Amino acid sequence: MGKVTGFLEIDRQDRKYKPAADRIRHYDEFMIPLSEEATKNQASRCMDCGIPFCHNGCPVNNQIPDWNDLVYHGEWKRALANLHSTNNFPEFTGRICPAPCEASCTLNLQDQPVTIKTIECAIVDRGFNEGWVVPEPPKRKTGRRVAVVGSGPAGLAAAQQLARAGHDVHVFEKNAKAGGLLRYGIPDFKMEKHLIDRRVAQMEAEGVIFHYEVNVGVDVNVRDIVAGHDAVVLAGGAENPRDLPIPGRELRGVHFAMDFLTQQNRRVSGEPLATNEPIFATGKHVVVIGGGDTGSDCIGTSVRHGALSVTQLEIMPEPPVKESKLLTWPDWPLKLRTSSSHDEAGAPRHFSVLTKEFLGKDGVLTGLRCVKVDGKMQEVPDSSFILRADLVLLAMGFVSPIREGLLEQLGVDLDNRGNVAADTRAYNSTREKVFACGDMRRGQSLVVWAIREGRQCAHAVDLHLMGETNLPR
Ligand SMILES: Cc1cc2nc3c(=O)[nH]c(=O)nc-3n(C[C@H](O)[C@H](O)[C@H](O)COP(=O)(O)OP(=O)(O)OC[C@H]3O[C@@H](n4cnc5c(N)ncnc54)[C@H](O)[C@@H]3O)c2cc1C
Ligand code: SF4
Repeated sequence: MGKVTGFLEIDRQDRKYKPAADRIRHYDEFMIPLSEEATKNQASRCMDCGIPFCHNGCPVNNQIPDWNDLVYHGEWKRALANLHSTNNFPEFTGRICPAPCEASCTLNLQDQPVTIKTIECAIVDRGFNEGWVVPEPPKRKTGRRVAVVGSGPAGLAAAQQLARAGHDVHVFEKNAKAGGLLRYGIPDFKMEKHLIDRRVAQMEAEGVIFHYEVNVGVDVNVRDIVAGHDAVVLAGGAENPRDLPIPGRELRGVHFAMDFLTQQNRRVSGEPLATNEPIFATGKHVVVIGGGDTGSDCIGTSVRHGALSVTQLEIMPEPPVKESKLLTWPDWPLKLRTSSSHDEAGAPRHFSVLTKEFLGKDGVLTGLRCVKVDGKMQEVPDSSFILRADLVLLAMGFVSPIREGLLEQLGVDLDNRGNVAADTRAYNSTREKVFACGDMRRGQSLVVWAIREGRQCAHAVDLHLMGETNLPR
C-alpha cells in the first residue's frame, strides 16, 4: 500500500466524456483519459483492505490492490504484467466492463470507490503505447490440436491460453472478422475495433490460426472438426434473441436490436452489410424495447443516425436511484443506471410498461399500444396508451445459443435454459473431448465473464490433454 492516507486526502476522480453535442457526430470513442499524475493519485486511494472484496467482485479476480500500488509507485510495466496474469484483454474490460469490482470496493460504502476500471485501462493502454505488449509464443509445442468455435471474448481468451500452453490452436469463426459481440454488437463509440485487431495480430504471432467465414455445423460438419482435433471448445455465444410475438410483429419497421447494431458496426468498418434491408433511425421516432446494455447501444446509435426522438420502454419497475449499502454491498446492486447514450438522447424512459400491439398502416409500423403493469406484472386497468413509432428495436436480451447447425449436429445435452450443459470445473460437455464456455455455456452475460470462462476452460482442456497444467484458473 503506497500512500496510507491516500483515501483520506484525495477525492475520487474519474474519466470524463467529450461533450454530447460533439460526440454524437461520430462513432469514435469519447472517453477522456486521466493524466498520469491523476491516475497515480487515484491508485493511491486504494486502502489495501485486509480482505480485498474487489478480488471477488471482479469475475477474473484481478489483483487490484497490487497493481494500484505498482501504479502509485510508477512501476507501470510490473502493473501490466500483474494485470495480464489474470486478464487476457484488459483493454476491453477497461472500456466496457460495468465494473462490479467498484461496487464491491470498501470505499463504495461511502459512494467513493477507487476508479479501478480507469486505472486498469490506463495500465494496458500505456503498455501498448510503450510497446510492452508483445507476442508470448510457447517455449515448446505439444503437438496437440485444439479447435475453438467462435471468436468472441470467451473463444479468444481460451485460444490465447491454449496457444501459450503449446497447443496448435485453430479458431473457426462464421463472420469475416474476430471479436464476436465485441465487434458486431457493441458500438465503436464504446470500444473501437482496432483494439481487437491488434490482439488478433498478437495471437497470430503466438501461433493461433484463424479460419474466417466458416459456420461450423453449416459450412463444415462439426463431427469432422471433432475427428480432426484432440479437443474442441464451443464458444459460439448465445445468439438467439428474445422476440415479442404480439399482433403487428410482421410490420415493416420492427427489428431485432442486433440487426440494427451489427449493420452500423459493419458500416463503420467498411464491411458489406450482408443484407438488402438497411435499417436507419434517421428522421424517425424510435422506440427501444428493453432496458439493458443493448437497449442503451440502440439509443446511442439512433441518436448518431439523427433520430427525431428515442423512447425506451422497460417492463420492470423503475429501480431505486440509490441502493441500500447495508443490504447490497459488496454485491452488484440493482439501481437506476444512466448510460452515456441516455445522456446524449435525453431519451424518456418508461418503466412498468408492457407492449400489447404494434400498430401500422399498409404494412408499415406507425406506433405501439402499451399498458402499464403493476409490481406483479398485472395490467393496470384503463392504463392503455399509444406511442408514435416509425422504428421499433427489440432489445430484450437473448434466450439461448442457436440450436440449429452446430449444437444439433453435435448432439450435446443442453441445460434447462437451452445452454450447453457443462460445469465450471471441467467445462466438458456431454460429448467426449468437447468443452464449452462463455455465453454458449452460461447464457447471455458480460465480456469479463466470457474472458474468465475462456481462461478456465483452457485450463480444463490443457489438463485433459496433458494430465497436468500450469495454466491458471
Ligand atoms: C449490443 C450488446 C452490447 C453489450 N454490451 C456489453 C458491455 O457494455 N459490457 C459487457 O461486459 N458486455 C456487454 N455485452 C455482452 C457481451 O458482449 C457478451 O456477454 C460477450 O461478448 C459473450 O462472449 P462470448 O465469447 O461468449 O460470445 P460472443 O461474443 O457472442 O461470440 C460468439 C462468436 O461465435 C461465433 N459463432 C457462433 N456460432 C458459430 C458457428 N457455428 N461457427 C463459427 N462461429 C460461430 C459468432 O459469430 C461470434 O463471433 C453486450 C452484448 C450486446 C449484444
Ligand atoms: S475486469 Fe471489470 S470487474 Fe475486473 S477489475 Fe476490470 S473493471 Fe473491475
